Amino acid sequence: MNSNLNWNIVIGLEVHVQLNTNTKLFCGCKNESLGNPNSRCCPICIGLPGALPAPNLSAIKKSILFGIAANSKINSKIQFARKNYFYPDLPKGYQTSQHYFPICENGEIQFFFNKKPKSVRLTRAHLEEDAGKLIHSVKNQATHIDLNRCGSPLLEIVSEPDLRSAEEARAYLAQLKQLIQYLGISNCDMEKGQLRCDANVSIRKNENEKLGTRTEIKNVNSFKFVEKAIKHEVNRQIEILESGREVHQCTLQYDDKSDSISILRIKEDAQDYRYFPCPDLPLVSIESKKIDKIKFSCPETPINKRLRFQKEYQLSFIDSERICQSLDIANYFENLSNRIFNPKEAKNLLLGAIAKILKDKKISINDLPISIEEFSELYQLKSEDKISNLNYKKLIRILADSNHSLTKILEDNNLIIEKDDSIMDDILEVANEHPKELERFRNGEEKLKGFFMGQIMRKTQIKANPKEIIKLIENLKILSD
Ligand code: ADP
Ligand code: MG
Ligand code: ZN
Repeated sequence: MNSNLNWNIVIGLEVHVQLNTNTKLFCGCKNESLGNPNSRCCPICIGLPGALPAPNLSAIKKSILFGIAANSKINSKIQFARKNYFYPDLPKGYQTSQHYFPICENGEIQFFFNKKPKSVRLTRAHLEEDAGKLIHSVKNQATHIDLNRCGSPLLEIVSEPDLRSAEEARAYLAQLKQLIQYLGISNCDMEKGQLRCDANVSIRKNENEKLGTRTEIKNVNSFKFVEKAIKHEVNRQIEILESGREVHQCTLQYDDKSDSISILRIKEDAQDYRYFPCPDLPLVSIESKKIDKIKFSCPETPINKRLRFQKEYQLSFIDSERICQSLDIANYFENLSNRIFNPKEAKNLLLGAIAKILKDKKISINDLPISIEEFSELYQLKSEDKISNLNYKKLIRILADSNHSLTKILEDNNLIIEKDDSIMDDILEVANEHPKELERFRNGEEKLKGFFMGQIMRKTQIKANPKEIIKLIENLKILSD
């Protein structure tokens, strides 16, 4: 057993996000992982001699948008550089990336961890191209190469070593993913590898000491695995240091099947990638007018939305978190609240009845078969006591399951409370059927109200409005038989 509490854990993350542009970063090939292997590539993305790349403006704009949302400095000049190395999934022999002039420098990501605000500084965010995929086939005893992913645009977001636990690293990643989804620049589908993370880990005795030697866990593609992998690595380093040995800089990989980490390679020195500006690509100037235009179009960030919802709609900390989880849900909440003038009811609906429908039907909020207008009409009926609370909930479910309009459903199901005197007639009838109970009620046994209530609801098949019935039951005390 090692003593985790005696150590200060330091983590910095490098996150690769696949931008959702139509085409790849330097050519016109479709930016999609679909299609037969090697069907979405051209001389440019596989780097045949003489092919000339051209930067994808949409990828640059999306990166700038990220930088603005993360409070980064946007460089007025960006330069692409070649990072030279050999690997079978990289036919060009170099990766076109950014080194000296990245698009975004500095910045910060704010989030809540254990309900407390936390800010992680960003070092930089830059554009680079993805590599292909190696597919190892045991059956064929061969490794296949699929180059469809070659040249897909990645935004690499590098954090400062500001994270202090595996759980905190996970919360940071969740916030980053949410921000990127709000910005609409990537779907961040981790199962499809659209968000991948390298975790750099070191430990030291306390916060004021200089940083310890770090190791790097490569390419982890789930939040849960990042958290687990970091915990393993922290334990490994603690064991090494506590037994008087030294941590060596190395690259590790995490295997989710065995839930363990293993060393891939020892880094003697920093690898020499022999970066140099790509002679085929121009220096891209970004005018401040263009940046202002993107700034203007930048949507509200998740954290700002949460804070605004807490203030404007009196949502609790937790409810604001749940409602702002996705932009679609947050937008729906806001539309509904503004329509029915009751944020509390909108929240209850969304986190209750609507959440259940979405879960049961396995659909997203945009496919909800009930319109905001119908909700508002229903709510109106309930507020005016024209339908009971029970029928309100019932109707939502019926609406979700049928493709009829609310008006038709109300007609067919006869759920509107009748305002005529027939309810009083029903009440009298019930009273007549239960003379003993009536007697006891008249003699002061108040609890019999509940009994009559139940009988009346059964008789009227819950069409009646409970509030009204309670009032009417009182009359039984004075009315003659
Ligand atoms: P490289 O590109 O070789 O991986 P960088 O200097 O760009 O190296 O650092 C990458 C990441 O490592 C950054 O996220 C940074 O915060 C993190 N990092 C640097 N030093 C440490 C350390 N001592 N402990 C933990 N993380 C670190
Ligand atoms: Mg690295
Ligand atoms: Zn191509």
